[in-house]
Amino acid sequence: MKATIITIGDEILIGQILDTNSRYISRTLNAHGIVVAERTSIGDNRTQIVETLDRALSQSEIVIITGGLGPTKDDITKHTLCEYFGSTLRYDEVEAKHIRTLLEARNIVFNDLNRGQAMVPECCTVLHNAHGTAPGMWFEQEGRVVISLPGVPFEMQHLIDEEVMPRLTARFELREIIHRTMITFGIAESILAERIAAWEEALPEYLHLAYLPAPNVVRLRLSAYEVEGKEVSREIDSQFEKLHTIIPDNIAGFEDASVEELVHNILINRGQTLAVAESCTGGAIASKFTAQAGASAYFLCGVVSYSNESKCNVLGVQMSDIEQYGAVSEQVAKAMAQGAKVISGANFAISTTGIAGPTGGTKEKPVGTVWIGIATPDKCFAVRKNCGTDRSQIISRATAYAIAMLYDELK
Ligand code: ATP
Repeated sequence: MKATIITIGDEILIGQILDTNSRYISRTLNAHGIVVAERTSIGDNRTQIVETLDRALSQSEIVIITGGLGPTKDDITKHTLCEYFGSTLRYDEVEAKHIRTLLEARNIVFNDLNRGQAMVPECCTVLHNAHGTAPGMWFEQEGRVVISLPGVPFEMQHLIDEEVMPRLTARFELREIIHRTMITFGIAESILAERIAAWEEALPEYLHLAYLPAPNVVRLRLSAYEVEGKEVSREIDSQFEKLHTIIPDNIAGFEDASVEELVHNILINRGQTLAVAESCTGGAIASKFTAQAGASAYFLCGVVSYSNESKCNVLGVQMSDIEQYGAVSEQVAKAMAQGAKVISGANFAISTTGIAGPTGGTKEKPVGTVWIGIATPDKCFAVRKNCGTDRSQIISRATAYAIAMLYDELK
């Protein structure tokens, strides 16, 4: 069963908002065994809507549209769909009452524009939008279904969960889509690909392999579309077991756990603690850990020591080391990690000191140079990484490398 998702709104095309609706709908459809053939975003434009709908219906049994259902003139989806299906609008008393009640609760007078929202095409099934004023619509034509939903993510999500999915699962016979992920660690994508080439070659035809690389981590995802779930799950288990024998030291976990989640789980299970001392990452590492519920069990403290003085006064780095080797150096990274460990009493500490740019780079230490320090119960070391050229990329890569290095130590 194939679906096409169309998101409508000039604000998506000009980059004012991110199209999160497609992501939500894709995930939900996938979880119910519906393959998303295409996602497309278009403007509030009649011709574009008609052309896109024509194409979508030629390739998919299900088309889900979001956006353009508001009361204003630029929201034209409903009128275009009404015309497309050769229907006329009728006044829906139930929806009108609901809209009036919602507006009264917000002290807004029900006006002609709102009355327009209660007009629905004769030929559609109305999907009641309990959380907003624009009802959803379900059209059927020659065995195909077109669903139109409001653009507001919260309203759209309720409608998908409560109105659309129960109807789709009742209407179509759906099979399963399975995605399973193995997280590999400490092996570059190209080397990994070489090592597992024979395994990949021998995979059953219905299993599709995807490589998803990140700093120090490559996720291997096996996907199977429209299959018998239990049988395929067993096959994937056995394929992952084979992979285990090929790269036994490089498997970090399964499914979509991030490396910080893996570190989080290990520290909680072992009852060990962590502190961080950050310069160029400015708190990004601390926030990756503290964003996870339960971090207080192991996360003792995070220091953002941006100035040389704070590196010395708070973490006990020697000013002479900074003068001799520079703030971005192995010596300072190690001293920062050691300092964070000592002041907090943690078992482990991470540090970062680098040049996030765009200025401040030199020939020896160009923008993107980051020293990452790790202090463990029995050693302290630092590694130099080149984290790219763009400031936000440098910060996120340094953060990922630092957490990955700690994970390597823990594992
Ligand atoms: P309403 O009747 O509430 O106005 P609508 O169907 O007319 O809903 P739009 O006017 O297109 O929806 O969008 C309303 C708001 O919902 C937008 O300002 C935007 O913030 C958000 N939105 C719309 N489409 C998307 C999308 N694809 N992804 C994320 N947010 C979206």
